[in-house]
Amino acid sequence: ASRTCWESGAQSSADWRALDAAHNLHPFSDHKALATEGSRVITRAEGVWLWDSDGTRVLDGMAGLWCVNVGYGRPELVQTAARQMTELPYYNLFFKTATPPAIELSRKLVELTPPGLNHVFLVNSGSEANDTIIRMVRHFWALEGQPERRVIIARDNGYHGSTLAVASMSGMTAMHKQGGLPLPDFAHIREPHRFKVAPNTPPEAFAHEAAGWLEEAILSIGPGRVAAFIGEPIQGAGGLIVPPPGYWAEIQRICTKYDVLLIADEVICGFGRTGQWFGSDTYRIRPDMMTLAKGLSSGYMPVAAAMVGDRVAATLIDRGGEFLHGFTSSGHPTACAVALENISILEREGLVDRVREDIGPYLMSRLETLRDHPLVGEVRGQGLLAGVELIRDKAHHTFFSPVGRVGARCRDHCFRNNAVVRAVYDTMVMAPPLVIGRDEIDILVDTLSHALDQTHQDLPRLLD
Ligand code: PMP
Repeated sequence: ASRTCWESGAQSSADWRALDAAHNLHPFSDHKALATEGSRVITRAEGVWLWDSDGTRVLDGMAGLWCVNVGYGRPELVQTAARQMTELPYYNLFFKTATPPAIELSRKLVELTPPGLNHVFLVNSGSEANDTIIRMVRHFWALEGQPERRVIIARDNGYHGSTLAVASMSGMTAMHKQGGLPLPDFAHIREPHRFKVAPNTPPEAFAHEAAGWLEEAILSIGPGRVAAFIGEPIQGAGGLIVPPPGYWAEIQRICTKYDVLLIADEVICGFGRTGQWFGSDTYRIRPDMMTLAKGLSSGYMPVAAAMVGDRVAATLIDRGGEFLHGFTSSGHPTACAVALENISILEREGLVDRVREDIGPYLMSRLETLRDHPLVGEVRGQGLLAGVELIRDKAHHTFFSPVGRVGARCRDHCFRNNAVVRAVYDTMVMAPPLVIGRDEIDILVDTLSHALDQTHQDLPRLLD
């Protein structure tokens, strides 16, 4: 539909699919199955809408991969990138150099994030940000004279990225099975998924119990060996797990008690997604360190950041010597310039307040109408992060087996009906651009509702 001068000469969707299947190894995909089925080729986008190579319009209920917060097709971001690339397309922060966009972005992130996070290490992806944090945390404890504090505790189904280290830190057992992970010195506790494990326990009591798993882990590993605890304020890729009220306060208390650093992975929750600038604001977390990506540039450029709190920074700066870490594109000037303009759009248009006060509650109220559907066990969310968990039998609280097949079918129905939602196990997940309108939310929820009906009809063929 748009550009016609690709070197391969590909023109039709069939051409693209054939070339894609021939050469392109997709992330988190079964290559063989995808090659047989063929990918949907996305060619352009505007607002909350995508167009594929057949010219079909698709509602993006996931903001790409939870990242296109300001929506697609923003001319300000294009102009900013063009201006920066004209003036200075590349320079780095190694060997005593800096660039204005990197300096300005760091200043802005310090201003926006919770108090005490006054230093920034710029990188290109959420994985790199978390990897950077691991290296910093271990270096910090070694400098503090406690080199045996190396273990980082995370949660089952927490997702922190895909490098060897952060895949180890992530609590995805299926990932661990590939390539001999986890690496040593990562531990996992259960996630605070009340609906799954303790639906009859009151939320406050469950919060206490679930946070208590951290204390148990610290005591069994030995407090002198635990460097840090990391968690997403709301677990995203692991199934949209919203913590019960009081969970984070208790986690914070336990971390303080054992002098364990608290790290908030804000890669999904950051930049307005939960209705505040950061999930840490929503849950009143005071993290020692924080990682940012995705919404930082609304996905227009690969850019991410590790925010470092005063305590850790003071030691690293005063006594750390040379920190032997960094990437060619750390603080890339074009990416930083675009991130700054993206933040400026979020501010100018009041998008964070809009999520909290208007469009987030609207999405939740619309999803609540699905509660009585025979497949729907729970509707949960915060801001523009929402999950609808499917269940086999409401009365007996039994889940589907095998896990994930029903969710995947429902997602496929949505996609065929031209709306992107994600299935995590059997939870249908939505995280649309923060600019989504009420009419577009209606389309998204109606499409999901229809897909639930279609999935319900398919059940006999899906169950063992
Ligand atoms: N942390 C969280 C919470 C994420 O959701 C993701 C990506 N989905 C990452 C880290 C990894 O980010 P990236 O894919 O940019 O490496």
